[in-house]
Amino acid sequence: MTAASRFLSMSKSNYDAVVIGSGPNGLAAAITLARSGRSVLVIEAAPEVGGGLRTSELTLPGYLHDHCSAVHPMAVATGFFRSLPLEQHGLQWIQPKIPLAHPLDDGSAAVLRRSVPETGAVRRDGRFTPDEGSYQWLMAPIVQNWETIESEVLAPPRPRIPPHLRTLVSFGWKAIQPATRLAQEFKSEATKALFSGIAAHSILPLTERGTSAAGLLLAAAGHVAGWPIPRGGSRGIAVALASYFQSLGGEVETGWTVRSLDELPAAPLVLCDTGPHALAEIAGNRLPDSFKNALRRFRYGGAAFKLDWALDGPIPWTNPACREAGTVHVGGSLAEIAASEASLGASPASSEIPKRPFVLVAQQSLFDNTRAPDGRHTGWAYCHVPNGAHFDAKAEAEMAASIENQVERFAPGFKDRILARCVRTPARLEEENPNLVGGDIAGGSMNLRQLLFRPTRRLYGTPAKGLYLCSASTPPGGGVHGLCGYYAALQAIRKADS
Ligand SMILES: Cc1cc2nc3c(=O)[nH]c(=O)nc-3n(C[C@H](O)[C@H](O)[C@H](O)COP(=O)(O)OP(=O)(O)OC[C@H]3O[C@@H](n4cnc5c(N)ncnc54)[C@H](O)[C@@H]3O)c2cc1C
Repeated sequence: MTAASRFLSMSKSNYDAVVIGSGPNGLAAAITLARSGRSVLVIEAAPEVGGGLRTSELTLPGYLHDHCSAVHPMAVATGFFRSLPLEQHGLQWIQPKIPLAHPLDDGSAAVLRRSVPETGAVRRDGRFTPDEGSYQWLMAPIVQNWETIESEVLAPPRPRIPPHLRTLVSFGWKAIQPATRLAQEFKSEATKALFSGIAAHSILPLTERGTSAAGLLLAAAGHVAGWPIPRGGSRGIAVALASYFQSLGGEVETGWTVRSLDELPAAPLVLCDTGPHALAEIAGNRLPDSFKNALRRFRYGGAAFKLDWALDGPIPWTNPACREAGTVHVGGSLAEIAASEASLGASPASSEIPKRPFVLVAQQSLFDNTRAPDGRHTGWAYCHVPNGAHFDAKAEAEMAASIENQVERFAPGFKDRILARCVRTPARLEEENPNLVGGDIAGGSMNLRQLLFRPTRRLYGTPAKGLYLCSASTPPGGGVHGLCGYYAALQAIRKADS
């Protein structure tokens, strides 16, 4: 059905709100609006809902791979998804025994466990060495004050003196530091490596100010709520969100790429789960040029180069802890990881592709037997590359080989277990989902400026009445937590009701 014929068939129906895009933030916005008693239509370009929450047989029949998001600390450690009855709509979380392991060349591995004191290093023979106190000193206050930190830090900035100022100042002092500097607080090389790997989720050079924030928040979330995976794949989160939304009376239309607001049925509120540049295009003359230019100045960040494997057995990690972990960070020492992430500098064109990349690996099938046939396994991995990095066939094969060599380094025999692979370059990621501009997986660079004013000083709002942005390009940014959509919808509701 064309946009015009859809419009004709739908023009009879009016909605209180339309949400463009059904990623976790679009669905979160839609649910929040529906819970306020409004009639809501969600429009999605892809054939099914979910955005970054998609799972399918990317390699061989019977092997289920998460297209984007795989591991979900922020979904369970933050309040919005927790407030929804998603389990009643089929969502089942699985907690791997160890949330995160990080192998090192001497056969040991740093491990993040649910308990702070049990986080440290595991030797090749399985014996545990704690981090001699510095990890606890840094992390325990954040874990103990998680509720305050979550509600103040993982939220839009508010012009007021926040409660619990001392807790927030203490967190801010740590979070503002470059990860390479804060890592020096740890005594053991293993914990330095562990922390730098987690901080690399910022998708910024680790020498940049503020990169410790990602390390601290994701590590603390692991202690507070684990790094779980959904049974059956991340698609299960989208299915549960959509099912709950529909149970509230919400409607969903898939296979419809919105190119202009003029295509939409009448609605006083429109929330866009799109990138800021896309919003400028879709809104056309409903937005003044000055604001569209501000949206276009928003900077996209580092991209992903992604591999999915069908394997004839589990990944044969040398270290026993890695065989019990849902996520494994592969990249060696702090210095090596910092070198790999340094290529994510300010100017994408001049950035180099890392030769020994820092690789994020998830091994969902170890804990979820729905992901692969009996005795077989899946592997999910990506590394960061500069935004828009172009890969011809030769460069693509080289990059895939670099990723596989890194895994082989800590799991000899891994490459022999590969039955099939699916490679997704930044360009292919963007083809699948227009929000992944240049392969950016976080909805825009998470540098300090764009964390505060994301994507503009208006945050979710625009100068056009009733028009809002609700994607990961708004606070608190990338990741599956639904908070961008939730806060955007709250603002829209507040304004509409005032
Ligand atoms: C490779 C990769 C790995 C990741 N791993 C993790 C992870 O393990 N854990 C985690 O928490 N996060 C992870 N993320 C990040 C996470 O997926 C995103 O931050 C999250 O999905 C953002 O949600 P969103 O709703 O803002 O946008 P998206 O999930 O991108 O959804 C946007 C939706 O809007 C639709 N859309 C856009 N424009 C239009 C239009 N004009 N008309 C109609 N529909 C439109 C798109 O088709 C898409 O379905 C990963 C991302 C990638 C790419």
